[in-house]
Amino acid sequence: MKMKAALLHGAHDWRIEEIDSPVNNDDELLISIRACGVCHSELHQWDEKIPTLDYPRFIGHEAAGIVKQSGNNIKKFKNGDRVGIWIFGKGFAEEVTVKEEQVFPLADDISFEEGALAEPISCTTNALLKTNLQLSDTVALVGTGFMGLILLQQLKHQGVSKIIAIDVRDEILEKCGQLGAEYILNPMKVDVAREIKELTDGRGVDAAFEVGGVQGTLDLVPQITRMEGKVVIFGYHPGKRIINDLGYWNWMAFDIINGHFRNMETILDGARRGMDMVNTKKIDMNTLITHKYKLDEIEEAFSAAKYKPDGFIKSVITI
Ligand SMILES: [Zn+2]
Repeated sequence: MKMKAALLHGAHDWRIEEIDSPVNNDDELLISIRACGVCHSELHQWDEKIPTLDYPRFIGHEAAGIVKQSGNNIKKFKNGDRVGIWIFGKGFAEEVTVKEEQVFPLADDISFEEGALAEPISCTTNALLKTNLQLSDTVALVGTGFMGLILLQQLKHQGVSKIIAIDVRDEILEKCGQLGAEYILNPMKVDVAREIKELTDGRGVDAAFEVGGVQGTLDLVPQITRMEGKVVIFGYHPGKRIINDLGYWNWMAFDIINGHFRNMETILDGARRGMDMVNTKKIDMNTLITHKYKLDEIEEAFSAAKYKPDGFIKSVITI
């Protein structure tokens, strides 16, 4: 059997190809993919050809679909089940095989696009678990794109006092307000460090999440976090970044938390918990999916993720 897949041959060089469909073994499910999100972490290898990576690349790791065939040893799922899946790649295609523990059931009223987000929601969930926020903490989100907006919705269930959303895009800040952020601050317009001092009796926030993944967001977190407060490096930083004054970080006794995870058990547990919050409507993914594309429009989908046209939060490929 053959299927369509989008393979990345080099910078901006997507090719839709007919390749062999994967075949599942007894311990795997064959999933007919219906949606796959475009992730910020994939952009660098598309925007330029990275010499240390092998091309053509078969990427896409935020997928959902329908169980087409379940192996003999599969217990929890049957053909026809609607599921979100956690995968390493190969998501921009019609079919993929996965192990049972990588599969999460979708509630009937959750779309494939919403259900495709097991991987990002695993990241936010695990970062929040690791940060171990306390009741009535004041929390800042520095950078409130797609991931920041998931964190924000999850924070509303953590019993925190104030959520302060910080971003350079006003329309995103407006969304943060709609989703329950108590304060919204645009560093292009106000002195964020001073505003936060005022909002926290001069102390700084109990926890600051660096979400933006750029030097500017990394520079801002130490300026707004209280002594012994938590600094969570959540953003994806593919390039070189500099901690400006580690002496100051030391002096402030920040609790520095790396919000990234590599242990598969942890990742899948985060996905399970996060997908439960999607299925029970504690997180509204629908409001975050702003741009949908077909598989042969994948270049446009990646461009949108990079250049963020008006209203952009997340692009998803439908298959
Ligand atoms: Zn991702």
